[in-house]
Amino acid sequence: MDVTSDTLALIGNTPLVRLKGPSEAAACDIYGKCEFANPGASVKDRAALFIVEDAEARGALCPGGTIVEGTAGNTGIGLALVANAKGYRTIIVMPETQSREKMDTLRALGAELVLVPAAPYSSPCHFVHTSRRIAEETDNAIWANQFDNIANRRAHIVGTAEEIWNQMGGRIDGFTCAAGTGGTFAGVGMGLKAHDESITIALSDPHGAALYNYYAHGELKAEGSSVAEGIGQGRITANLDGAPIDDQFRISDAEGWYWVQRLLSEEGLCLGLSSGINVAGAVALARSLGSGKRIATILCDTGFRYLSTLHNPAWRAEKGL
Ligand code: PMP
Repeated sequence: MDVTSDTLALIGNTPLVRLKGPSEAAACDIYGKCEFANPGASVKDRAALFIVEDAEARGALCPGGTIVEGTAGNTGIGLALVANAKGYRTIIVMPETQSREKMDTLRALGAELVLVPAAPYSSPCHFVHTSRRIAEETDNAIWANQFDNIANRRAHIVGTAEEIWNQMGGRIDGFTCAAGTGGTFAGVGMGLKAHDESITIALSDPHGAALYNYYAHGELKAEGSSVAEGIGQGRITANLDGAPIDDQFRISDAEGWYWVQRLLSEEGLCLGLSSGINVAGAVALARSLGSGKRIATILCDTGFRYLSTLHNPAWRAEKGL
């Protein structure tokens, strides 16, 4: 085993696991990229590290500086751990609807937490706009701006996509995942297409997001709703702009929850709902490509982050899941 004294070196180089149940169901090989194995237990550690190192390289973030961000939680956790390891302060603005575990984790990491009511993007109270205002009003601070800062997707072009390509020995037919900022979807898609243009890149869009209709019909229009945290986008962020896309699927929370349960009970993997939605999307993509194909998707974060929500029967009953 390698030994390192740099905790940030633990970000990335995550394992890839062949998922037995989904592979059997689709008569394909479906692989999950274990992003819950990052030190902050989510895919967002990668974006956090790239955003902070990009700000340092540009001279925007100086010693003693503050990192401010609006986040569903995982990016905040990634930024707080990177900030702690590098000696910065973090202020995280988060909608109060996100899981308690994420808030507790952020507090444990020493981030200053600002909770705002869930509001539409058009409202000045939206967590993204609130975080930009706080960054502007704070001395020696940067706004991480994960949605429109393409250092986010670069983490996935040079990191996640390269790793998947190498781990699959260059034998990969398709990739799918859902989009929050779109950094993972666009970055992995771009990175894989740079190796092989024929790899099918498909978006797995949750209900309540507008991207399925945009890519299928050219109109940003949302239908239905989802309780999945961290995914579901209503606009073309800078990270999504120019993303390669060959196909798109609309995936319900029920389909995602079905796979979360099966992966937990059959393979011992405890995941969040966005991972389940990605796996449901991978099964849909595998079925559309035909049997025997090799498909990769993202296992975005740990289910231990949702013990009070997704993995709590009372919460699920309240949400009708
Ligand atoms: N799943 C979870 C649980 C997340 O927190 C996020 C990040 N918002 C995503 C998926 C989507 O990642 P991205 O922002 O790269 O689209």
